[in-house]
Amino acid sequence: MRLDRFLSHQTRLGKKLVRQKIDAGMVSVDGHVELFNRFEVDHFTTVEMDGVVLQENEAIYLMLHKPAGYLSATSDPQHPTVIDLIDETYAADLHIAGRLDRASTGLLLLTNDGRWSRSLTEPDKKVPKIYRVQLRDPVRADCAEIFSRGIYFAFEDLTTSPVELTILGETSVEITLYEGRYHQIKRMFHAIGNKVVGLHRAQIGELTLGQLPAGCYTRINQNLEII
Ligand code: URA
Repeated sequence: MRLDRFLSHQTRLGKKLVRQKIDAGMVSVDGHVELFNRFEVDHFTTVEMDGVVLQENEAIYLMLHKPAGYLSATSDPQHPTVIDLIDETYAADLHIAGRLDRASTGLLLLTNDGRWSRSLTEPDKKVPKIYRVQLRDPVRADCAEIFSRGIYFAFEDLTTSPVELTILGETSVEITLYEGRYHQIKRMFHAIGNKVVGLHRAQIGELTLGQLPAGCYTRINQNLEII
């Protein structure tokens, strides 16, 4: 990251003020005064401004067992949000990596690391997300084949990338998605005349909820391992 960006992010000072500080020689990088705004800094660089070392915020990664009824949002005037379940001083800094609908349950990831959450939700990264789906009507025998070809979403003008589907029972299936479009699973079943009545995300990558009770959370690392 560029030095001026890093400084305004850490200190919440505007870019102009930050540049004045740099020009005035008030900023040092690894013990040397640095006058170049665009100097590249990373996790290992020690940056000082006005003689004070600026620490990078600790990166936080959490997995939460989302109960039904909680919004995947950071605040809402009407409904409780998943952030209300996080009893930590850093809760307000977190955002959600891959939302679940209010009625959906299961594995939800929260972090303050925007680069990480983007990388998990990018379709080309191919991180599998496994869902158990309850349907109103019996599942069509050709459903797996239809979903493997993708479903056209006119609103976004795109066809969903291939989805793996295993039939578990007359009205229940397991689905593996590699992307996360808005209400994707509900819309895919709607497109073939069925309706999702229950949705639970069981796994992301190799990470599962294990014995984590609904409403509880635990720290993980950026490799999706429990710590
Ligand atoms: N697809 C949906 O329709 N809802 C979810 O909560 C997740 C995936």
